[in-house]
Amino acid sequence: MGSVSTRSVFLFGRWTLQPDREPDAEPVVYAMQCAVCGAGSEPGEDLATAQQWTFSHAGSNPSHHTYRETITRPWRAWMTQLHRL
Ligand SMILES: [Zn+2]
Repeated sequence: MGSVSTRSVFLFGRWTLQPDREPDAEPVVYAMQCAVCGAGSEPGEDLATAQQWTFSHAGSNPSHHTYRETITRPWRAWMTQLHRL
């Protein structure tokens, strides 16, 4: 014996999940999509730019009144308590 297979070791712990606001975190990205035709804005870090796209799209397509907002937000998870069995 003398050696332990890593497959026999199980790690259990309490995990914490939180939006990632570290300086090196990925940026929050916004995009708008037309719910009528599926066209969408380019994803970008400025919500106002994404919202401006809806005005331009509605101006070109006067019957398109409904939109979807997509927010991509970075999160991070880490183990705050470790229990080794
Ligand atoms: Zn549309």
